[in-house]
Amino acid sequence: MVSFEEARSIILSSVGSAGVERIHLLEATGRVLAEDVVAPWDMPLWDNSAMDGYAVRSADCRTTPCTLTVTGFLPAGARADGMLVEAGCAIRIMTGAPTPDGCDAVVPVEETDNGLQQVTLNEAVVKGQHLRLRGEDVQAGVSFARAGTLIRPPEINMLAGFGLALVPVFRRPTVAILSTGDELVELGRTPGAGEIINSNTLSLAAAVQECGAIPRIIGIARDSRESHLEKLREGLQADVLITSAGVSAGDCDLVRDILEELGAQQKFWKVGIKPGGPTAFAMYGTTPVFSLPGNPVSTMITFEEFVRPALLKMQGLLRVLRPLFKAVLREPLKKKPGKVQIVRLLLEKEAGRYYATSAGNQQTAILKTMVDARAIAVLPAESTSFAAGDNVDVHFYGNYIELE
Ligand code: AMP
Ligand code: MG
Repeated sequence: MVSFEEARSIILSSVGSAGVERIHLLEATGRVLAEDVVAPWDMPLWDNSAMDGYAVRSADCRTTPCTLTVTGFLPAGARADGMLVEAGCAIRIMTGAPTPDGCDAVVPVEETDNGLQQVTLNEAVVKGQHLRLRGEDVQAGVSFARAGTLIRPPEINMLAGFGLALVPVFRRPTVAILSTGDELVELGRTPGAGEIINSNTLSLAAAVQECGAIPRIIGIARDSRESHLEKLREGLQADVLITSAGVSAGDCDLVRDILEELGAQQKFWKVGIKPGGPTAFAMYGTTPVFSLPGNPVSTMITFEEFVRPALLKMQGLLRVLRPLFKAVLREPLKKKPGKVQIVRLLLEKEAGRYYATSAGNQQTAILKTMVDARAIAVLPAESTSFAAGDNVDVHFYGNYIELE
């Protein structure tokens, strides 16, 4: 048996990136940059006006009010070549238009009488005001976004601004999902005596999608050697394989043996975590293989704590663990020493602090408390009891909690 921390570190040191591809900006939101990106030119590319108003020489505007002769017009998109602000003159200019020679300040139209031939400025002018200078945002040759950056609308805007239509990003791994067990029937059929619906496949596919990877549903391996061989072989074609059930010590628990027969190298089996103890992890070449316990709660918790970080790392993210924060317990918690205990929690925020209560029955077979849980406490292996009022480390469970 490995500890919770050992299991995580074995997994994260075994998995590498899923490779790099170049994709169009329109597809790139939520993906991770695979290379540093260098500015091909200065941003902005030329000095320009930050306001609709008048391009002036600040030295001409020392008195207030002062009147200047308007000698030209520069709308956005116009070129300023050959245009010059002569002494005592101003050029009417729109936001984003290149500033003409001689101009060292722009006076916003609101601070003038908006004149067309002559303009009177009502306020003092400071040299450099309302100018955007060439390269003040980003200079040519500077790397403005680093490998490992999550691409969001601001990154898209800047990449587009530099004309970079194709961006190098880490691939999304394909993740084969295989359930095992003779008791399973697929969604769409009514389960008969002794049968249950293969809900893990659906929930794993959803969880895989939530972390940006691509689920490939392999179906069900029946509790026979032949069926396991066929389905596991198929699953090993993907970038990652996740199986559920068949990994404990029962008579029909064939997953680990058959994976080994197919050439997968087991890295660990059994983790000091409750629920989720009978989890196995193997590498088949560069393909990580997660064999999760079949109990839906255990399957989801082990996905959350072990598979999710691996899938995020494969997609190039640098921070792959959900951040832990402190919550104040509203009620005492007890556990046995020796294993990390995962507790499903309800969370409330009051006066800037989080307060946690148990989501209810914490037994592995109880799915409802998993549905209700908004946070998960990861209680350290050696701890045994927590009093009401104690602080515990928790992390959110789910990606959309702030929307509720
Ligand atoms: P096992 O690991 O095969 O002993 O399964 C543990 C428990 O999880 C049993 O109650 C199974 O019926 C249940 N289970 C196994 N696979 C699935 C699945 N794909 N969907 C829902 N429940 C499952
Ligand atoms: Mg089974």
